Amino acid sequence: MILPDATVGVLGSGQLGRMFAIAARQMGYRVHTLSPETDTPTGQVADLEIVASYDDLEAVANFAKNVSVVTFEFENVSAAATEAAARFAPVRPAGQVLHTTQHRLREKTFLSQNGFPVTPYAAIANLAELRAAVATLGTPSILKSAGFGYDGKGQFKITSAEQIEQAWTTVTAHTRSESAPAQDSALSTQHSSPVAVLEAFVRFEREVSVVAARGMDSSFAHWGVIENDHRDHILDLSLAPAGVDAKIHAEAIAIARGVLESLGVIGILCVEFFVTADGKLLINELAPRPHNSGHLTIDASVTSQFEQQLRAVCGLPLGDTRLHSFAAMAQLLGDVWLTAGKPGPNWNAALSDPAVKLHLYGKAEARKSRKMGHLTALGATVDEARAKVMAAREALMHK
Ligand code: AMP
Repeated sequence: MILPDATVGVLGSGQLGRMFAIAARQMGYRVHTLSPETDTPTGQVADLEIVASYDDLEAVANFAKNVSVVTFEFENVSAAATEAAARFAPVRPAGQVLHTTQHRLREKTFLSQNGFPVTPYAAIANLAELRAAVATLGTPSILKSAGFGYDGKGQFKITSAEQIEQAWTTVTAHTRSESAPAQDSALSTQHSSPVAVLEAFVRFEREVSVVAARGMDSSFAHWGVIENDHRDHILDLSLAPAGVDAKIHAEAIAIARGVLESLGVIGILCVEFFVTADGKLLINELAPRPHNSGHLTIDASVTSQFEQQLRAVCGLPLGDTRLHSFAAMAQLLGDVWLTAGKPGPNWNAALSDPAVKLHLYGKAEARKSRKMGHLTALGATVDEARAKVMAAREALMHK
């Protein structure tokens, strides 16, 4: 068991690491973070910010030597880096969990082989395979790069057969720009091992997620089913609890539990689902860390997803995940700043409702689509919480 006063290490330095570091410091732990950037959201609240590439294995090993446990807020860390860390400190969740979930094809293969429901898909290695798969799965369908995808990057929605070549060029160009030069040659159209996944387009009724935790003693906790709205592939709004019936709720939780157990997760993992009109759940994605849709747990639950991550990776008992309020979370993208103009968002107006809570991530530059913060509103019903958070976000843009 890793007790307060110990130092915990977090790989990655964005907002997820920041909220983890705040929870860790609240409980008396010290926090080190490692990422290639400086003055980061996590670094601003950590005790130590180490600036190094995730591929600098010596830096990663040194980082691990000075902490009692290593966890993540960013999952695209190489297996070599997690192995370098694991020589000096426990890595939780284990590198193997990251390896599976950081790559769409490995993730989908794992899920389907273990009997979990996924969107119909095909592995794509070249243009000919893409043509064949579009013929089978039909249009619309979505081509996604096998690795390095987030917030809709490296994706192309194919609405007609004429777009196949364009989709292939776009998605492989994205993969090339995100991968190491040594892998480049592997991305030609002649390539024979899969670099992308084609997914059938799901006409979902709603999107939901289950954020869940698994402790060292195999204990399991979750925050129920959360409902999510995406805008331009980025999570825009989350509501808790989701408006799903008891059967879907129970199924979603059972699937999430099965996934955490099959992967042997120690920490937090989020399962994102599509709910179809006929009440079926299909897994879209896994994230082996706290998730955007779980941000509302900070204000609406006894134990937040970040405190729970800390408890799980330190081998402490998991905390109570009961929601004490209905809640809604609205993301604040850089667009809010760009729309508000000078002198900036109207914080005073947004906070005039005392049920609204503000979280900002410490990012200096507001860019379009950049996640700068979020608002959470609590309410007596989900609808009330949603109305409050929408009104507060709107108020930010009024002079
Ligand atoms: P992803 O980057 O895979 O998490 O996708 C981001 C968002 O794009 C999802 O939350 C959906 O709103 C939408 N999306 C992704 N894949 C599909 C699909 N196969 N069918 C319908 N919508 C999708």
